[in-house]
Amino acid sequence: MIPVAEPSLGEEELNNVVEAIKSGWISSKGKFIPEFEEKLAAYCGTKYGVATSNGTVALHLALATLEIKEGDEVVVPTLTFAATANAVIYTGAKPVLVDSAPDYWCIDPEEIGKAVTPKTRAIMPVHLYGHPCDMDPIMDIANRHNLYIIEDAAEAHGAEYKGRKVGSFADIACFSFYGNKIITTGEGGMCLTNDESLAVKMRILRDHGMNPQKRYWHDVVGFNYRMTNMQAAVGVAQLNKLDKFVEKKREVAGLYSSLLNSVEGVSLPPEMPWAKNVYWMYSILVQDSFGMDRDELMRRLELKGIETRPLLAPLHLMPPYKKSESIAVAEELASRGISLPSSVNLTAEQTRYIANAIRGQRS
Ligand SMILES: *Cc1c(COP(=O)(O)O)cnc(C)c1O
Repeated sequence: MIPVAEPSLGEEELNNVVEAIKSGWISSKGKFIPEFEEKLAAYCGTKYGVATSNGTVALHLALATLEIKEGDEVVVPTLTFAATANAVIYTGAKPVLVDSAPDYWCIDPEEIGKAVTPKTRAIMPVHLYGHPCDMDPIMDIANRHNLYIIEDAAEAHGAEYKGRKVGSFADIACFSFYGNKIITTGEGGMCLTNDESLAVKMRILRDHGMNPQKRYWHDVVGFNYRMTNMQAAVGVAQLNKLDKFVEKKREVAGLYSSLLNSVEGVSLPPEMPWAKNVYWMYSILVQDSFGMDRDELMRRLELKGIETRPLLAPLHLMPPYKKSESIAVAEELASRGISLPSSVNLTAEQTRYIANAIRGQRS
């Protein structure tokens, strides 16, 4: 079976982990943690990085640091991984789910504008499947209504909006380093910010709310959201390869697109003129003219040893987030989308095999 995603780990990761273990610093102190934080912040063009135990708690830490709370509303795309909305719910606030832009799948700025109420405190743009959100109009709305922006960049390490890296636009941006993400630490996450006071507050909340000057004195209720030095050791090695991984992802995507371009009924993943898509998972849409539905195509590819995933399901259809009105674009994308194998280890031969298997269903 060709997997949808698998990590690419080598000698560098191994050597760093060995070094962390030999040093004895295996918990949440040790040299790799600040190194990983500083390097990802520098890579994205921000000042501060705060590493966390996973991407979901990075989102929660960001919201908690911005004091989002019960009675507040946060605008979230319905087409995202559940963690984006769950982090809002952990604070007691309400995620307000909005539609995607049809031409690039991420949150639609016009829909954000319509969703803003006096209770709205923040917007959470999600750079979905490696494609950046349209940040200029989102930042305009945030400025006009005095809202925070929390970027969910869990699927878009290295992606760019108008030549600037995602993760650098928000009050706080959050990354995930789960095993299937573009770079991984096994489990892990990070918050980035340019605001020193937010960075200080995030560090305190990450470490049980403990006063950094006075041990075992807690001024606030915090969390244990720390990353271990062993995870950061892997992260440092992965980050050194990020540009190579992004290049490889774009190469795989380019080959898929050139082979699938002419297949009737297959829509290719978008890349807007202002975007650098890093194609976290290369995802196509199966249109009616393809002649079979998405689920049938997935079953047939499985028989050929090709693992695929349906596109994320819109949150507003699920019990915890249920909304009675339909959210049309997200529902349409989700019913037609398939993610294809997209690992950086995927060979050109495998990519051709997969593209030919899709094309072959039509003839
Ligand atoms: C993976 C992901 C997360 C959560 O990250 P974890 O590290 O798995 O907790 C959050 N948001 C999006 C959009 C993701 O894809």
